[in-house]
Amino acid sequence: MSRKTLIAANWKMYKTPLQAREFFRDFLPQVKDHTRDEIVVCPPFVDLPAAIESAHGSNVTLGGQDMYWEKEGAFTGEISSGMLLALGCTHVILGHSERRQYFGETDDTVNLKLKAALEAGLTPIVCVGEVLEEREAGLTEDVLRRQCLRAFHAISAKKAAKMVVAYEPVWAIGTGKTATPELAADAHQLIRGEVAKAFSEEFAAGLRILYGGSVKPENAKALMAEEEIDGALVGGASLDPKSFAAIVKY
Ligand code: PEP
Repeated sequence: MSRKTLIAANWKMYKTPLQAREFFRDFLPQVKDHTRDEIVVCPPFVDLPAAIESAHGSNVTLGGQDMYWEKEGAFTGEISSGMLLALGCTHVILGHSERRQYFGETDDTVNLKLKAALEAGLTPIVCVGEVLEEREAGLTEDVLRRQCLRAFHAISAKKAAKMVVAYEPVWAIGTGKTATPELAADAHQLIRGEVAKAFSEEFAAGLRILYGGSVKPENAKALMAEEEIDGALVGGASLDPKSFAAIVKY
């Protein structure tokens, strides 16, 4: 089954609205005629209006870096799926390892957010991945199985149709240490197997699994050459228009 590659930028907590406008001014002409891959940029929430205005009419869509699962209410500091949609977002990153590590995100809250995002019609990019100690202790498979099992709990294949998964080994995020294409492909295969168990073989065959962790213009081509890798979630290297464009055009 052919899966359209998705290249997504995670800007984390970088750039002001003005800097977001400057990014799009320089980035969009470089990817103007690019149709092979879907391109998504996920800036900080406050940059979204500027980013959406800048990308209007282009081949680039926007996403949030997180959201809360309730529709509205007394949840100071949170953002809902409806708010992302109202701005014009199409995607949302869920369960990023930095949310898990610093902000108390758990497999169960990822599940609640995933259900809410799918219900709202957003395309969730669900992040899973092991930390270094887990890999060194031979626990990678257990961790990925647990994260998938809990994240996908009580969700039907029909509802999950838009979902995308990102395999992000935590030891490779922002460290300059990329997983080898073979190691990433093995993890993707394992995740696809878990997805087949949770949904169906057919669903798993169509699911896009992105790789994330120090993707750079220099290593993007080798990673994307793996049949199992359906795109990339890019942090640091997505902040510079030239390097993100080079990754998109790997
Ligand atoms: C990320 O933030 O999802 C990420 C993969 O970061 P980096 O590309 O900087 O490792």
